[in-house]
This record gives sequence, structure tokens and C-alpha cells, in this order.
Amino acid sequence: MKSDLDELYQSVILDHNRAPRNFRKLEDASAHAEGRNPLCGDVYEVWLKLEGDRIVDASFQGQGCAISKASASLMTQSVKGKTVTEARALFDGFHALVTEGEAGRVPAKLEVFQGVRAFPIRVKCATLSWHAMKAALEQRDRGIGG
Ligand code: ZN
Repeated sequence: MKSDLDELYQSVILDHNRAPRNFRKLEDASAHAEGRNPLCGDVYEVWLKLEGDRIVDASFQGQGCAISKASASLMTQSVKGKTVTEARALFDGFHALVTEGEAGRVPAKLEVFQGVRAFPIRVKCATLSWHAMKAALEQRDRGIGG
């Protein structure tokens, strides 16, 4: 079972690293933030487009390791179509997954990141774009986003 999980983990991360989804700048974004992980050299920008309380589009650009890029790709896919409240709940669930190993609060495809818990330096890689997403929402709330 462990090797099956390792294979799934590898194939999902390699796929999203090789062909990241939503890898572009959003010209008409309502919220934007940058995330940096100096320990690894990961640097990403995240854009969100909101209509009312719903995230109708999400994108990212930047560079970094396979884990950070795959995580950013899956993050944009996960929050697209969600309300701000749902996106924040996903952040909390993902954070609990990679820091506490707590499963069941995020879609199954995100649970491939559960393994990073064993590697604290990789937790920052996996959560970088999620922190940027959350920061973008907070800046928008304060009226300084966009
Ligand atoms: Zn990294």
C-alpha cells in the first residue's frame, strides 16, 4: 500500500510539475500576492479573480522545485469556483494535512502531499502558494489588492 501511495504521489507531482495548470498571469485579477521560500528558492505569484464572494479564476506564475510548482498548480485548480470561505477552509485543511498529517479535509488529489510532513523543509514548498492565495484574499479584504 505504501508503494502505491508513493507511486501516486510521484505521478501527480511529476505531472503537475511538468505541465502546471493555470500557469499564466491573470490580467483582470481582483487579488494578487507573491510568495517566497528562501530555504528552497521558490518564488511564485498568485492571482485570483473574484465575482462577489466567489473565486471564478485562479492562476500562478513563478519558479521553484517540483513540489512547490505542483502544489501551486493543484491549489489554483482547487480554489477555482469556490467561495472565499470555502477557499479559506481548503487552506486550513491543506495546512493540517501537511503539518499534522490530518487527512479528509481536502479533495483526495491534494492528499498526495501528506508525505511532505516527514520533511519539514518541504512543508514550506508545499504551502507556499496556499499562503500566497490566503494573503491575496486578505489584501483584497483590506482594499489594497488587485
Ligand atoms: Zn521548494
